[in-house]
Amino acid sequence: MQAILAARLFDGVDAVPIDRPVVLVDDGRIAGVGAEVPAGAEVVDLGDVTLLPGLVDAHIHLCLDAGTNPVGRLATIGDDELRVEMRAAARRALLGGVTTIRDLGDRSYLALGLRDEFAADLTAGPQLLTAGPPITTPRGHCWFLGGETEGVEGIRAAVRERAERGVDVIKVMATGGELTVGTWPYQAQFSVEELRAAVDEAHRHGLPITAHAHGVAGIANATAAGVDTVEHCSFITPTGATADQAVIDGLVAAGVTVSATLGHLPGFTATPRTVSLIADLNVVFARIRESGVRVICSSDAGIGPAKPHDVLPYGAGEMVELLGYSTAYALRSVTSMAAQECRVGDRKGRIAPGFDADLLAVDGDPLADITALRSISAVIRGGQRVR
Ligand SMILES: [Zn+2]
Repeated sequence: MQAILAARLFDGVDAVPIDRPVVLVDDGRIAGVGAEVPAGAEVVDLGDVTLLPGLVDAHIHLCLDAGTNPVGRLATIGDDELRVEMRAAARRALLGGVTTIRDLGDRSYLALGLRDEFAADLTAGPQLLTAGPPITTPRGHCWFLGGETEGVEGIRAAVRERAERGVDVIKVMATGGELTVGTWPYQAQFSVEELRAAVDEAHRHGLPITAHAHGVAGIANATAAGVDTVEHCSFITPTGATADQAVIDGLVAAGVTVSATLGHLPGFTATPRTVSLIADLNVVFARIRESGVRVICSSDAGIGPAKPHDVLPYGAGEMVELLGYSTAYALRSVTSMAAQECRVGDRKGRIAPGFDADLLAVDGDPLADITALRSISAVIRGGQRVR
């Protein structure tokens, strides 16, 4: 039995009012939380830190290298080389305190193999959940990942194939995207009937389904089809971004969670177009917040230099600094809420008896100052210290 000592504790839901909190870990799991060190326990004193659950990033791309041209780069490398890079990207996430990741854009189902690798050696990588290649229309968004299909029967077959291979979630592209030449974020992909078939087939196999959707038509289609989560939900138009209150109300009524892909490293010069778009997006997400949509913070890590695979703490910062969320909400949205959305809410994202001992220690108090989440002092995965 290990007794991990910290100065402060956020348990994934709230601050725990214990003076010198002690987290007991036995056989990779949390055995208890309290103020006493039991006799015989091995003491690990982390010092003046805040202990939190390891972070959960519900939207990451291990196969995109966070360079200036990740899609071009991907086209030049084979699966063996790609697997090596994906392994390194996952390791970077883990060392950055992100102990659970959900890969939403795989090629050749490579993440499935890595998921097994990391399950056999917890210190090698985070808990990995994967969608396999995202399902898209012919030459639609991210077609180059291998997930093109069309029609109600085609999309059902695509979901079945992924379920049979053992994926953890279904990802469907309900609009175009910035990364794919010839598609546009504001244009919808797939009909409501096709999306409904995907949802039905996913749920029939016991899998959650999430839809990539930027533009209002795609968000509305995905909501009508009954998806569990909408990724991005940016309400992008041909000239900026504009919230649609009726569609936002629809998200609330249907109980759809928004996975807001936030987080950018500072220091990247934005073009005038992105500066004005970011201003629009901040207004959109303030409306989403005020309307009571359930929002989790994910990252879309890998898509560019401002989004390395450990960028998630910056996303939590943006929730507070740009979108007006409380620090407690932002911390929940990258721990317990994200874990629930990923369907691992019974094992991940909380510091409570029975949960996996995936832990993050940071200097300072992120409840008082969210930027403290970036000052990583220790990372523990399944009870083993990796940083
Ligand atoms: Zn993405």
